[in-house]
Amino acid sequence: MGMPLEGKIIKATGGFYYVRCADAREFQCRARGVFRKDNRSPLVGDMVQIQQNEDGSGTVAEILPRKNAFVRPPLANLDHMVVVLSVTDPAPNLFVVDKFIALLEKQDINPIIAVTKADLAATGDLAGLYTKAGYPVYVLSCETGEGVAALTDALAGTVSAFSGNSGVGKSSLLNAIDPRFAIQVGDTSKKLGRGRHTTRHVELYQLQNGGLVADTPGFSSIDLAEMGGIDKLELADCFREFAPYMGACRFRDCTHTCEKGCAVLAAVESGKIDPRRHGSYAQLYDEVKDIKPWESKN
Ligand code: ZN
Repeated sequence: MGMPLEGKIIKATGGFYYVRCADAREFQCRARGVFRKDNRSPLVGDMVQIQQNEDGSGTVAEILPRKNAFVRPPLANLDHMVVVLSVTDPAPNLFVVDKFIALLEKQDINPIIAVTKADLAATGDLAGLYTKAGYPVYVLSCETGEGVAALTDALAGTVSAFSGNSGVGKSSLLNAIDPRFAIQVGDTSKKLGRGRHTTRHVELYQLQNGGLVADTPGFSSIDLAEMGGIDKLELADCFREFAPYMGACRFRDCTHTCEKGCAVLAAVESGKIDPRRHGSYAQLYDEVKDIKPWESKN
């Protein structure tokens, strides 16, 4: 047994974990039995300590603290979520998008907004909405290649996943970023589409620039909500453009929906916060306001 090594789990399949170390060596590992006993299991994306075995394989000995972790797909330590929206055909449902973004903020995952089909319609309004809210926005066309290189650059050195409804051009986008990666995600989608609960295979695919992208068919709000909803008291913190106004309202328990002297409402009024984003906030507040703290799965 040598010294413990540290690395990242980049693939899990058939009970094996594939751990890549900083020096690019890879080890096929089993997990120590104690994890199962403690009801813990290593996830793709985990930073782990491994012991090297004499036969060249490894054993996952310790899971290092996680930034975030998902049940479905089983994945940890996601840095970015690329939220793929098409400007048209279909046009996005902004409430659904804003709810998804709020759930990402809650899990400390940075949303990146990718506006596709820029060759079909004007993107200024949609791109402007999220730029103004404080998010990185990439305007893309897989037809012309516009924006693809810039988005790919943004993924360098981080762990990302892509989400987007069917028809928004997610597959075309993945294909434009890296054709080999697109094939892999396509296969995963097909397997899951048949509803077969076979081995949960998750892999972090390495882009040319070192960025790692999860080969999952995509996340939904439902998957994120499963991890614990948002409490009404923390909802405003999940709208990052509200931050400058927090603590500036007349009432300490201001809900930022209707109160007199609300600094957020004043910012909506003066055009500093887009009324559509505030509308999503108010609708979400309405959804979560009656959930008691002990009822939310935190
Ligand atoms: Zn307020």
